[in-house]
Amino acid sequence: MSKSEQVNSLFGVHSNEDHTSLGPLLECLCGSEMFMVAAWFDPDTREIGGYILDGKCLQCGAVVQLPTPMDQVELDEHGEVRYI
Ligand SMILES: [Zn+2]
Repeated sequence: MSKSEQVNSLFGVHSNEDHTSLGPLLECLCGSEMFMVAAWFDPDTREIGGYILDGKCLQCGAVVQLPTPMDQVELDEHGEVRYI
């Protein structure tokens, strides 16, 4: 079972919409900025310690790829991708 299938089974909501080919999204195509996320917590800080990159839109149920800080890129003067 793939992680996407695991996430789908955890949330128990089937969707035919799959936006993972669009790459990491901060906002679903439906306009929602809320996602269902499988996360774990840091025992020292009690904050989110990490999360599985497969998520689902809370509004429409579409499968999405969740963003990370590493997703922030810009093009340098030669048109090459540079990670911020
Ligand atoms: Zn959506």
